[in-house]
Amino acid sequence: MKITDIVLDRLRLDLDPPLRAAWDPRPRRHFDATIVRVRTDEGVTGIGSGDTMAGFDAVKDLFLGEDPLDIARHVKAIETANFHGGRFWPLEVALWDVIGQVAGLPVSTLFGNTAKAVPAYASSAELKPPAERVETALRAREAGFRAMKIRIDRDHVADGIAAVTAVRDALGPDFAIMVDLNQSWRMAGDTAAASDLAKTRGIVRRLAELDVFWVEEPLPYEDVEGFRTLRAENPGVRIAAGEMHHSVPELLRYLENDVLDVYQMDVVLAVGMLRARTLAEVAQLKHRAFTPHSWTNGIGVLANLHVAAGVGGGPFFEFPWDPPGWTPQRRDFMLAEPLMIGSDGTLAVPARPGLGIELDEEAVARWRI
Ligand SMILES: [Mg+2]
Repeated sequence: MKITDIVLDRLRLDLDPPLRAAWDPRPRRHFDATIVRVRTDEGVTGIGSGDTMAGFDAVKDLFLGEDPLDIARHVKAIETANFHGGRFWPLEVALWDVIGQVAGLPVSTLFGNTAKAVPAYASSAELKPPAERVETALRAREAGFRAMKIRIDRDHVADGIAAVTAVRDALGPDFAIMVDLNQSWRMAGDTAAASDLAKTRGIVRRLAELDVFWVEEPLPYEDVEGFRTLRAENPGVRIAAGEMHHSVPELLRYLENDVLDVYQMDVVLAVGMLRARTLAEVAQLKHRAFTPHSWTNGIGVLANLHVAAGVGGGPFFEFPWDPPGWTPQRRDFMLAEPLMIGSDGTLAVPARPGLGIELDEEAVARWRI
């Protein structure tokens, strides 16, 4: 079997009204997605997405003519290409989609087949006043979610704590709340300093009192000692991070030093599917949790879902959802059918061979740049 072509479609969906993502100083007036298609001489086509693939044309020939099933080789080749710029993990996603189709199995089966569905949490995007956040949380529970992640802005901590308190009061102790402080990395051009350790210690202590399930990215990635301090001081709350770590050695260092309770490497942004699986297995063998970040588009959600369900990630899986700003229709505009959880609050792994991606070709044509 041979790879005959790798085709990229660059899509741009207009967002009107814009999305005001808590971690992005600029309102998002459009949502970009790059679709990767790996074509083969046997008629099987694999699909991936989740990152820009900017600069991929310069390294595309490393893969043409190769056997798509030689996945360990391709992962190493992607790593060598990433070193020089770009993050080409959506290509690995498309290759796994080919492999699953050739095997006649869902990719999650090849990754360990631990679960057929994973409990999902509604992962919010926007900063909302307490009453509005409660309204969205109630809507989430009505839709089946049993957990929600709330953002707290470093410059408006009191407002964020008030929103978490209001949700806890309104939804009671059985609704899990995660909090993302988004302090580990920055959008390009966002030069503001992260909150310092003293301030962050106060925030995490307060969130522990509110019985928050995990606190995500409370500090910059470099502050390994700070992460360990937070964990030692707050035995009741889990510390989560790792969505955007760019290399395996960084995450291995975290694992060796037992820095986190929850490892969150996103398979389309951080270290790819195969490496994420290996690191997740190590985390689990060390009695720590893995559940990936999945804040991209529906194809990125599926790629992360297959890895999580395969290796046994959890207990909650990230499902980007914060209506009206962020809906499955916006997030999955390139899919024939937006992904949604079941009434039991779980996101089911598609049973079809491969990743189970079905593109809406009309939407792809309409939004292609
Ligand atoms: Mg996050």
